Amino acid sequence: MTSITIPGGLLVAIEGIDGAGKSTLAKGLTERLRAHGVAVSVSKEPTNGPWGTKLRQSAESGRLSPEEEVEYLLADRREHVEQFIRPALQRGEVVILDRYFPSMVAYQGAAGLPVDDLSKANDFAPRPHLMILLDVEPATGLDRIRARGDRPNHFESEDNLARCRQIFLVMSERSKWVIDASKSEADVLEDSYARVVREFAQNVGDLSLENIQKVQSLLVGHLA
Ligand code: ADP
Ligand code: MG
Repeated sequence: MTSITIPGGLLVAIEGIDGAGKSTLAKGLTERLRAHGVAVSVSKEPTNGPWGTKLRQSAESGRLSPEEEVEYLLADRREHVEQFIRPALQRGEVVILDRYFPSMVAYQGAAGLPVDDLSKANDFAPRPHLMILLDVEPATGLDRIRARGDRPNHFESEDNLARCRQIFLVMSERSKWVIDASKSEADVLEDSYARVVREFAQNVGDLSLENIQKVQSLLVGHLA
């Protein structure tokens, strides 16, 4: 059986503060879509490439300047877009990203850089068809990080996360969809899957029998 694809692909960016449940949802959505025959590529930012690796190390050891962080993040994203995101979209896949450019706007914005400039610096990056914003109180995020067995890093003070959360909430991204991520993991997955299916249906193209069958197959996943 060939897997289900969509013309131009479908780009889904999962966003929110640390501990909101992004990685959990990225995994859940990927598994569920694949179980219903959809071609899915999943990735994260910062990536595991050279620029992303440097950034992760700096988060553990003490922060770079916000300007340096932006430079590394943009270099990382340029590579990611060219080598991974655009090719997967061209193959018609659903591309699920665990953080994308909105995270840079929120985090480096919280570090004091102008939010409008940060947004403009990402004009080269394809817009997501759907930005899922997992919204939680910083204290909840921090509790989850600790429960996960991690110690919060330099980004993860309650004050900083509160600033990030606020920027995420006011961000005017066309495709932004906010979900209350204090809900259970199962509820967050259920609602997000339904939202992705809706987006898929709106972008699938003409109402050929083949396309109707594709959407039907995903809806079965939603109703199951
Ligand atoms: P993020 O990637 O946003 O930092 P994670 O997906 O790693 O967050 O989730 C942080 C922790 O919280 C994990 O241990 C995860 O199992 C748990 N978790 C994720 N989503 C929920 C939820 N909706 N309710 C309760 N715990 C959750
Ligand atoms: Mg994560």
